[in-house]
Amino acid sequence: MRTRLIVVAAPSGAGKSSFVERICREDSRLVDTVTYTTRAPRSGESEGHPYHFVGHDEFEKKIRDGFFVEWAQVHTNLYGTPLNQLEGAWSEGKCVIMDVDVQGYRTFKSKFPDTKGVFILPPSIDELRRRILKRDAKTPADIEIRMVNAEREMLQSKDFDVQIVNDNFEESFQKFKKVLDEWLGSG
Ligand code: 5GP
Repeated sequence: MRTRLIVVAAPSGAGKSSFVERICREDSRLVDTVTYTTRAPRSGESEGHPYHFVGHDEFEKKIRDGFFVEWAQVHTNLYGTPLNQLEGAWSEGKCVIMDVDVQGYRTFKSKFPDTKGVFILPPSIDELRRRILKRDAKTPADIEIRMVNAEREMLQSKDFDVQIVNDNFEESFQKFKKVLDEWLGSG
């Protein structure tokens, strides 16, 4: 059976969204999802880019309504993937590629055992801290939460089918593309 779900996980700041965005532009067999979050938009983000931003009450109502195929608390916020986006993509014969955390990967793997997983590793913990500081100009406590979670997530990278170190983006991206090409087959 052809691969229909690929999860890309990485600690925040490892650059995984760049991998997902670019591969979706270059390979029409793949489609990305727009997940829901209770996190506030960062500068440059807006509704639908890259999330649907909703309040806590609305998110909880969606959980109760069975809207999410998977949801999790990541860092200090809630994130969830709607089932209808997966079904819509599959009905068009597309493979869904998603950027979720390691809890999300576990849930998808248990619900859809044919799910494939790629874990993107930063070149080092110091480099990861630099990237998080540059991107998320937040409180020191928030940065520490992301760093602790990053180390915990990286210990679970071995549970994924493939691990790719993002030291040089272009080279790492080509490795990523080759792996996905094999999973998607020639058809
Ligand atoms: P950020 O706040 O930096 O955009 O994302 C934080 C983390 O939440 C990232 O690791 C991202 O992959 C993850 N994430 C985004 N959407 C979902 C989702 O629907 N489910 C899960 N489990 N994680 C998600």
